[in-house]
Order: sequence, then C-alpha cells, then structure tokens
Amino acid sequence: MHTTAPPSEVRIRSARTRSGDLVDLTVTGDRITGRHRAGEAPATTGTELDAGGGLVLPSFVNTHLHLDKTRLGDQLPADITGTIQDGLAATWPLKRNYSVADITRRASEVLDSAVVHGAGFIRAMTDVDSLGGSAGVEALLGLRKTYSDRVRIQVTGFTQEGIFGARGSLSLLQDAVAAGIDVVAGCPQMEKDEALSRKHVETCYQLAIDNDLDVHFLADDTDDPSARSLEQIATIAAETGWGPRVIVGHVGALGAYDHTYARKVIALCADAGLTICTNPHISLVLQGREDRGLVRRGATRVGELLAAGVRVIAAQDDVDDPYYPFGIPSQLEVAKYVAHVAHLSHPAGIARTLDMVTTDAAAAVRLDGYGLEVGDRADLVVLPTATAAESLRLTPAPRWVLHGGRVVATTRVESWLAPA
Ligand SMILES: [Zn+2]
Repeated sequence: MHTTAPPSEVRIRSARTRSGDLVDLTVTGDRITGRHRAGEAPATTGTELDAGGGLVLPSFVNTHLHLDKTRLGDQLPADITGTIQDGLAATWPLKRNYSVADITRRASEVLDSAVVHGAGFIRAMTDVDSLGGSAGVEALLGLRKTYSDRVRIQVTGFTQEGIFGARGSLSLLQDAVAAGIDVVAGCPQMEKDEALSRKHVETCYQLAIDNDLDVHFLADDTDDPSARSLEQIATIAAETGWGPRVIVGHVGALGAYDHTYARKVIALCADAGLTICTNPHISLVLQGREDRGLVRRGATRVGELLAAGVRVIAAQDDVDDPYYPFGIPSQLEVAKYVAHVAHLSHPAGIARTLDMVTTDAAAAVRLDGYGLEVGDRADLVVLPTATAAESLRLTPAPRWVLHGGRVVATTRVESWLAPA
C-alpha cells in the first residue's frame, strides 16, 4: 500500500487585482482554490508569497511568435537593410542549414526568457517549407513537450515561403498535421499572383477544417493598398463558421486602404467573429519605409477594429531575427507598444492593451480556466507594480511566475545608488 502526497499549496498574499481589490489567493495543485480579502486567508503549511500590493494577472498569452527564427541575428550579413525582402533573402541560406538541435537551442533561450517575463501560453509560428523542411516543426514539437511544465506551447505549421511557389511545401504541411501540430498557418502574400494567393487561403482553411484545427494567417503585411487577403479570409470565416478559430496577424494593408474599403473589410471581420493580432514592434520597423513626408506607423487600424467590435490582440512576433534585431518576449512590453502606436495612452486604452495580451488573447485561442476565480488554472504572474498604467510604464519582469500552480520563475532587481 502506498499513499499519495497531498498536492502542494501556494498562498499569494496581498495581491492587487485589476479592479483594485487586495486579495489572498490560494493555489492547490494546478488550480486556484481560494480567494479571500487580503489578510483573511488561513495560514498555510505550503509556500507563502507576499505580493506586497503588486498586481496579479493570469499569465500572458502570446499568439504569434516566430520561434524557429529567433536569435539568428549574429548569422546575418552585415549589409542587411531591414526590408522584408532582405529579411526573407537572408533567411533562405540559414533555413537550408536548419537542424533540429540548432532550432531547439535558439528557441529554448527565448522560451526561458518568455517564462521569466510571464508567458503562460505561446503560439509558435513555425516555418514548414522546402527550404527548412520539417526541422522547425520537429524542434517545436519537442519543445512543446519539454516546456509543458513551464509554458503551454502551440505549434503552427507556417507556410512562410508560400504553398504553390515552394515545391513540396503542401505535402510537408500535411505531414506536419499528421505529426501533431496544433494550428495551420498560412502566408498568402508569398504566392506570385492573386489567384494563387486566394488558392493558398482556401487550402489552409480546407486543411484546418478537415483536421479540426485552428487556422492562423500572416496576411497583408504590406503598405500596399491593393492587398486583398483579409477580405477573403473574413468571407470564408463567415461562410464556414470557422471565425472564432481564426487569428489574422499583421494586416498592415488595412491601414493603407481608403476608408470606404477599410470600413467594409472591418465589418466583414466583425461579422465573421475572427481575431486580429497586431504586432507593433515589427510593423514599426518594417512598414512605412517608402513613405515620404508623413511616415506611417505600419500597424493595422486598431482603434477602428475595436470600435467595430472586432477582437484585437497583440503579440511579440520576433526576437532577434532577420526582420527585427531587438525584442524580448515580454507581453507587457507588447502592450506598451500597442498603447503607443494605436493612441491607447488614456486609462481605458491602457486597460484595453492589457486585455490584448491577457484575457482577449486567451479568448482568441479558447483557453479554459483562464482567470483569477476559484477553479481557474493557476497560471499566474505577480508583478512588482500595482496598476496597469504603472506596469506598462515600468514593464518589469514579474516578481513570480506560476505555471500549473508551481513557481517557475522569480525576478528580483537590485539597484545601488551612491549616497549624495
Ligand atoms: Zn509574424
């Protein structure tokens, strides 16, 4: 006969919710099992964490991070100019040399940092094509397993080089589905003409629906007002009813459309119930490069989408890759960038940007038990800051990060000042 050890208990004392309440949260196993007013929770023999009035949030959700390409920065040619075309071309020779071990090493470095910064969920955009083959998917499926006790990873099969322009990509994508990826992800703008681009979108939908998978697009990532993928994606989402399982990232062209057409496309998105993911860091450095005089910011129409009732979320997109030389996987920093590019710097706007990296992002990927109520999953961050505005202003790493009820990261920053 053997006895099973009781589940571990963690008590988070004096944590502040977004509505300003000070609470004690009790965590047993992987769930929140108690929520009391601060000071009223009973003593515990488990771990006590004194939040000291710091903000407690359910963990951050990043639905669009190109993990296979992270940390390639030191392998790039010195004369890279920073355009999309240059980024793509610089990636090709690197992808031809992709190995599972190398992707695993680079992505692990970023995943470790993401855990420290409070990520509880990451959707890894993972290239599948004839250049890199299935190395990215194989590496990320491995990481999905090895990191499962620290962060939940979803693996996409992402057709970065197109489906019809890159021979063999479709069968590699089908193989990735058979291997157990979570999401089919398309990139229709990589096809050589409009007809193939439309066929690309249809193919991704068909594969996703046939296999009961979510679908994700990197679409219209351009200042070109003639880009038309979002309209087609929204139309099919409405026709098939798949909208709640569709996220569309980037969509810079929506910002370039004339207002009448933009209004029509935004209404289609609202009707379809799909989610738009803005990626502010990368849009700021990639787009608007051909503009003279007033230079556009490249981000999509966040304010108008929100006003029309479209769910808008935000993601990091890149960490030190051929497109973006900066980046830490901090969703708090992403929220801060959205507040800047979308003029969401007032209190309600700041609150909205925090929704985009927490509750709304969680809803877009249909996470169960996401929140701070009894019964919710104990995937939590405790910040050293007390309010949304202060958290965005200082963008600290969380004091504690819990995943599945276990403390998986802590950060304590110490500074020293010379006396006056
Ligand atoms: Zn992207």
